[in-house]
Amino acid sequence: MKYAEMAETYEKLEATQSKLDKADILAELFSRASPEDLPKIVFLARGRVFPSYSEDEIGIASQLMIKAISRSTGFSIRDVEKKFKETGDLGLAASHFVKSRRQRTLLSSKLSLNKVFRNIRELSSIEGARSQEKKMDLIAELFASAEPKEALYITRTVLEELRIGVARGIIRDAIVKAFLSPGDMEEKKEFTEAVDYAYNVLSDFSEVARIAKKDGVKGLKKAKVKLGQPIHVMLGEKTDSIKDIIEKFGKVAVEFKYDGLRTELHKRGNKIWIFTRRLEDVSHQFPDLVETARKALKPEECVVDGEVLAIDKKTGYPQPFQNLSQRIHRKYNIKEMTKKIPIQVNLFDIMYKDGKMLFDKTFTERRKILEKSVKTIPEKFQLAKQIVTDDLKKAEKFYEQALDAKQEGVFLKVPDSRYVFGRHVGGWYKIKPIMETLDLVIVAATWGEGKRSKWLSSYVLACREPDTGKFLPCGMMGTGLTEEMFETMTHTLKPLVTKEKGKKVELKPKVVVEAGYQEIQKSPTYEAGYALRFPRLLRIREDRSPDEADTVERLKKLYRSQGREG
Ligand code: AMP
Repeated sequence: MKYAEMAETYEKLEATQSKLDKADILAELFSRASPEDLPKIVFLARGRVFPSYSEDEIGIASQLMIKAISRSTGFSIRDVEKKFKETGDLGLAASHFVKSRRQRTLLSSKLSLNKVFRNIRELSSIEGARSQEKKMDLIAELFASAEPKEALYITRTVLEELRIGVARGIIRDAIVKAFLSPGDMEEKKEFTEAVDYAYNVLSDFSEVARIAKKDGVKGLKKAKVKLGQPIHVMLGEKTDSIKDIIEKFGKVAVEFKYDGLRTELHKRGNKIWIFTRRLEDVSHQFPDLVETARKALKPEECVVDGEVLAIDKKTGYPQPFQNLSQRIHRKYNIKEMTKKIPIQVNLFDIMYKDGKMLFDKTFTERRKILEKSVKTIPEKFQLAKQIVTDDLKKAEKFYEQALDAKQEGVFLKVPDSRYVFGRHVGGWYKIKPIMETLDLVIVAATWGEGKRSKWLSSYVLACREPDTGKFLPCGMMGTGLTEEMFETMTHTLKPLVTKEKGKKVELKPKVVVEAGYQEIQKSPTYEAGYALRFPRLLRIREDRSPDEADTVERLKKLYRSQGREG
């Protein structure tokens, strides 16, 4: 397939806000793609060339892109920079210069989808001497045969800023529409569930689409865990009352709710993978855990679920989450950090063991299998503390014990519930004593004044609009941070700047923070329609991705629950 067809599809997707239309446009493309092109198209539809769990990153900064555009079109770097400032979009700048380029290659051939995909993928693997040059060559090679429209989308894909509003649900619906035979509309629900299931197990839509095309609903339902490919984990519903849950379900497993990082461990022989709930591979960051898991997990092959904590060596209590988060994205001094911030794992589930998927076993059965599968290393690699009871007093006492141990609260787990991906009623319930906080995304910031001028010191917080994937501002946060926190924030946010105007900067929506606040008010000025009063930073949520941030709907609900709606 020619890349031009992909570019045309992007253009159509950009032109509509309707989720249905977007799914139709993609379904049309998916259904006529060859088996070889299909996985690539599915990746590219979300502006990606790797599955989301992959450690590979394209990693090209605007500055290098500017040079590549300049080199392949013959315009000066200054010209490109000027156009970038004017339009705020390097994609538009690239398209402009490609249109009026000074160096035309006579032999320019039409770009194939394959070529674009391959070159962009290759960008991530180039290292060492002359790597910048080599990367530029790969991009320039694409520009040499690109039409203006193609240059626009190539640039945005390379910079990981596609901005065409295609979220997970749209890809799912497009796969269903593309591969469900037209006569089978009654089976649409079944097909949709099967696509969801396969995606939750494999975490890779390109593979799901391939199976849907080749083997339909049967193939999707049989999707098997692949070691090294993270599964979407099960989450808990919030509850305010242990009593309600015990009244409803009778006997429940009450488990410590540890305040750490969700971790999914995969084992095959000697090989261990560690994934976060965001499906990031953090195996390199936790060599200590890899080592322990190798010894402590008995099966030849398994996938287990648990929580990693940073432990204070003196007291044995958990260290604040911020300390653990220093280990999550670290590229250097990893060994040193394993000593400074020692960790502990508490496992609470097992989803796969030696060729068998365990999702359909009950929680009680899975716990038994887990117990048999782990050689406990006390305080280092152990099972989550748990009691099984229908006695409210005992459950409440256990909850207090969890809080005394400086953990967050407890989980109440229904003994005969299955392992279901995502959040569900009738499975796991979590309870903790603090007021509801919000997970919001930082979308803009302002450089500080005077002593704070070297820091980005106030941050625009935004909530998510699930249908469009947009982030809508709902508050400004700048108090309650220590100097160290300002420094960390500045360090984290600076590489995400997309536009700068005076002291204000716009940012790629990547960083999720947990914010406390006094109350939620209606607001005509903020795009969300609601604003947080006195928002304060509780922590950076390394474990959450922007598409898990709280929605505008949740703000509305919380606003209503304050009882102020007239
Ligand atoms: P929250 O982040 O407040 O929505 O709480 C959900 C998180 O609690 C999960 O993603 C886990 O990381 C964590 N957690 C801690 N202890 C447990 C447990 N015993 N069972 C399940 N999740 C747990």
